Amino acid sequence: MKKHNFSAGPCVLPQSVMQKASEAVVNFNGLNLSLIEISHRSKDFVTVMESARELALEHLGLQNKGYKALFLQGGASMEFLMTAYNLLEKKAAYLNTGAWSDKAIKEAKTFGEIVEVASSKDHNFNYIPKNYIVPSDADYFHCTSNNTIFGTQMQDFPETNVPLVCDMSSDIFSRQLDFSRFDLIYAGAQKNMGPAGTTLVVVKEAILGKVSRDIPSMLNYKVHIDKDSMFNTPAVFPVYVSLLTLEWLKEKGGIPAIEKINTQKADLLYSEIDRNPLFTGFVANEEDRSKMNATFNLADEGHKDRFDTLWKEAGINGLNGHRSVGGYRASMYNALTLESVKVLVDVMKEFERKA
Ligand SMILES: *Cc1c(COP(=O)(O)O)cnc(C)c1O
Repeated sequence: MKKHNFSAGPCVLPQSVMQKASEAVVNFNGLNLSLIEISHRSKDFVTVMESARELALEHLGLQNKGYKALFLQGGASMEFLMTAYNLLEKKAAYLNTGAWSDKAIKEAKTFGEIVEVASSKDHNFNYIPKNYIVPSDADYFHCTSNNTIFGTQMQDFPETNVPLVCDMSSDIFSRQLDFSRFDLIYAGAQKNMGPAGTTLVVVKEAILGKVSRDIPSMLNYKVHIDKDSMFNTPAVFPVYVSLLTLEWLKEKGGIPAIEKINTQKADLLYSEIDRNPLFTGFVANEEDRSKMNATFNLADEGHKDRFDTLWKEAGINGLNGHRSVGGYRASMYNALTLESVKVLVDVMKEFERKA
């Protein structure tokens, strides 16, 4: 039986997507050829790329609004430097909410002055800083909407006159936001969209072309836009599986429908963490809790072996917390079913009963 996969990334994808993807590897579109052995310039693959780019914009409500969607390589980690390469002339503002923000800041420092507007490093990133000020002369403001490792999620984004850049790797397509407030969004595929190997970048064209440095072709958003995301051979398999996942999401009713389910899953798990005396939540404030990654600990570490045995016996995978946080992390991405969360909650209840 398929496991209940709470892995933080790479992670669960819809079972129907896995099935279609595996069929396409053997025989794509009835061509009697594999998806991964045909030319990326062939009509069949160009259609895949165009549909994926279009559907990404459609889900975000960003069609015909001056945005372009790109499927690039190098992971979200490449975007840490690419955003700065393309947008940072003198000074940029960053909100530091976790390990990924920290890495984005480190990369951007190579290109100019970085103002860290606020940081939650003082408490091992267990909260989202509020009431910070974004300097109005910054080239852009960068934030991480969901902190995969620590289990915090931003609810509010600053009102600012400077371009808003956001790493949405671990919560893209999971909740409704006014995406038109953002000027550049990036997300590695392997958390809510597809296999590792491609990164979605959604960029408002008007913010490009403003830095004076020369930008190498592969790192230049403009080059990828002009070449329709096919400047070089794209990651054909990850892009195709991302398309399948975006189609699956559309059939489910899109972001509004999946957000309802994501809220049910998160409510169910967090209420058990709050109710059950054997567990404590990691995140300090309720409003900062992530609906994608719930982090929690045992009230008594001495019971670790017993709890670990119980959830493994229940067919649960990937519950261990990140090494920098410890404890447990239940990642509840779009494709994880409410049923799987019920199984976890039942295990937590059983753990209490047998204490
Ligand atoms: C996983 C993750 C990354 C890193 O993604 P890579 O594709 O491995 O480079 C960056 N930011 C966030 C928020 C993530 O969850």
